[in-house]
Amino acid sequence: PELWSIDFNDFLCKCLIKDFELRPSVFDLLQHVFIKQIVGREKTLQMQLMELIDLNQQIGVIEKTRHERIHTKKGSYMKSQSQTCDDVDDLATLEVLDENTITEQLQRRYAKEQIYTYVGDILIAVNPFHKSELYTPEHSKVYIGAKRTSNPPHIYAVADIAYQSMVSYNADQCIVISGESGAGKTESAHLLVQQLTVLGKANNRTLQEKILLVNSLVEAFGNACTVINDNSSRFGKYLEMKFTCGGTVVGAQISDYLLEKSRVVHQAVGERNFHIFYYIYAGLAERKKLGHYKLSDSKTPKYLHNENVQLVPDIVGNAFYKEQFETVEQCFKVIGFTLEELGTVYSILAGILNAGDVEFTSVASEHQTDKSNISNMAVLESAASLLCIRADELQEALTSHCVVTRGETIVRSNTVEKATEVRDAMGKALYGRLFSWIVNRINSLLKPDNDNQSGEEDKGLNIGILDIFGFENFKRNSFEQLCINIANEQIQFYFNQHIFAWEQDEYLNEDVDARVIEYEDNRPLLDLFLQKPMGMLALLDEESRFPQATDQTLVEKFEDNLKSKNFWRPKRVDLGFGIHHYAGKVIYNAGGFLAKNRDALPADIVLLLRSSENELICKLVTHPLTKTGNLAHTKGKAAGSARMGTQQSQRTINFAKSIGDTTHHPRETTNMKTQTVASYFRYSLMDLLSKMVAGQPHFVRCIKPNNDRQAHKFDREKVLIQLRYTGILETAKIRRQGYSHRILFNNFIERYSILAFRANEEPAVNPETCAVILEKAKLENWVLGKTKVFLKYYHAEQLNLMVRQT
Ligand code: ATP
Ligand code: MG
Repeated sequence: PELWSIDFNDFLCKCLIKDFELRPSVFDLLQHVFIKQIVGREKTLQMQLMELIDLNQQIGVIEKTRHERIHTKKGSYMKSQSQTCDDVDDLATLEVLDENTITEQLQRRYAKEQIYTYVGDILIAVNPFHKSELYTPEHSKVYIGAKRTSNPPHIYAVADIAYQSMVSYNADQCIVISGESGAGKTESAHLLVQQLTVLGKANNRTLQEKILLVNSLVEAFGNACTVINDNSSRFGKYLEMKFTCGGTVVGAQISDYLLEKSRVVHQAVGERNFHIFYYIYAGLAERKKLGHYKLSDSKTPKYLHNENVQLVPDIVGNAFYKEQFETVEQCFKVIGFTLEELGTVYSILAGILNAGDVEFTSVASEHQTDKSNISNMAVLESAASLLCIRADELQEALTSHCVVTRGETIVRSNTVEKATEVRDAMGKALYGRLFSWIVNRINSLLKPDNDNQSGEEDKGLNIGILDIFGFENFKRNSFEQLCINIANEQIQFYFNQHIFAWEQDEYLNEDVDARVIEYEDNRPLLDLFLQKPMGMLALLDEESRFPQATDQTLVEKFEDNLKSKNFWRPKRVDLGFGIHHYAGKVIYNAGGFLAKNRDALPADIVLLLRSSENELICKLVTHPLTKTGNLAHTKGKAAGSARMGTQQSQRTINFAKSIGDTTHHPRETTNMKTQTVASYFRYSLMDLLSKMVAGQPHFVRCIKPNNDRQAHKFDREKVLIQLRYTGILETAKIRRQGYSHRILFNNFIERYSILAFRANEEPAVNPETCAVILEKAKLENWVLGKTKVFLKYYHAEQLNLMVRQT
């Protein structure tokens, strides 16, 4: 506080004079703030203070580091200093590899706008938080087929390595992008797709265009503004780009994971609903079509009405949203959606918003005091007409439900609370299914065309790009955080397996000398979550099947059955339990776990939506969405009969029929035949992994340099934590001493014999031949195992380049 009273400029000057020894990056930083201060005279005092405090913290960290250095061995300080003098593109080549050196290198590079750095063949990308000059068409060209060391590290180089490996090894590839929210995963994924379409030289421009638009379209529906990131992905995405064996791009497929459906009906303070709602509002207003979709230009729908967010008049006037609406519509059209489909998508979205505004009042009755009535019938009618269902049936399905008791189906009233729950469940389900439908439809429109002349199916090759939510640890962590963190735990395991365990196993099998590297194995954590029958998810599913179970009995069950040092029950937190994840300790609150896991859409609502006059709406709740998106087309019997009348008897007959109905969505259809979120999640996680392990992996680790989304600001502590929990330090070690490429003798000779033998020669397949080739190529430090040649990543690059030049 005493600093606050001094003049800001004065303070900066003092810092500069006193700290003449500061490294250039800090000097840059001070200058930056200093200049900003002079330019921004109009800044409020509060902002100045914020900057001052921030700067002060940075200096604190730097001074601490300096202090530690000076008090450690003099030699190491000197070494560290001399190392920082030169630029290192690949941290695995550094002589001294400690946390400080790595952070320092990243910071120095970041100050010079070099946001990319290699650690062996892993790319670290530090978010610049401003428009970068690094992605021009010239950059794109420079990285095609180039030796990695000829250019500075770049995301385009990763695309190139994946592409060249796919073509030369005839093998699928998988690029895993990780990092916390706002670290730059989605941006990196875009850049990869962009460069891969250039590399894949799509024969027709339209396909190239379509592939590039896929991300924008899916993100309009799956991304939202959060307190951390204005364009936060609220689902996980695995995009597979399909190529012919010759390397021409021929299509794309997306898989989506764990869409955060709850955002449709509720958003935390300062957060927003999915982008698309705002886009259609502004876009339809511009076209004077709000009335057609029963949307008001003055009253904000409840689902968009949250503290601190824009109200309808602002949304309607927002030029950016209007622009985005046009872009999304263009994406839909270019990818191949029909105008009719587009109209239905808008109707469903408007139907969700209208249904969200339906209000209930409690009605006292002679027998029951807790019946509910709809207080704004006009809104209900709007929702019903948009969803092409009967208003009276929607009213019934919201305010009452059927139950089967001793073989008889009877109708019971819903309380206001229950009716609200049903209304929200309908909104979430409709949105979730609409999202899956869009993804499936894109997949069917971008499916590679396999009808080649020879009649043989060209199975082709693919490069998968995984952009999945990073590890989350909030003040209150619920079921969603648990799922997200389990997914991250699994991906970390895959990373460890690849980098550490497989590496060592391979060395041992091949009699290649390798020092054993210690690493944090998170397998026990995966067992804790995924093992059957005693893992956390299995226990959750078991408890979800008991109607009498509560969230309290669930945590007790966890406590009784989970025997692991990574699980504990914190004192004084009723429904709390703690997990020690690879990335840190997280306290979860089990409140709502059972309901979220059951995620039940009442059968009455399913039946009602199946009766929709609109084929697409009907499909969403009737048939399983297949991988290709080819939805079977007929309306269910139930739909026909539900339209016959509103008599209770007909309703109960339909309800009874639905219990025996087997044509349900893989996730959920009725209360009676439900797959829980946990089991579906486990299934998709396994599915994802099987795709990932089938390909050769590449890793991009995104780092967020500060929490304020500010350009030119590098918070060392923040970066250090991310480096620690992503295992980058260990990676650097193992990569430096490891051999990232290992090729069977026969493959090696087949591919590279041209470098040492004449074309008509057929050298023997043995280690000696391999040695001749390697010596001829003037390479050093390679190793021959029992069956394979062990190469460093730069050897492989060198060899491929030489082959291309031959
Ligand atoms: P989430 O997990 O919330 O989805 P994310 O890791 O996908 O986060 P992004 O949405 O990719 O994060 O990035 C957040 C923001 O950071 C972007 O909207 C953009 O403003 C900025 N950003 C990220 N990467 C870059 C880049 N390479 N160049 C310029 N800006 C970037
Ligand atoms: Mg994202």
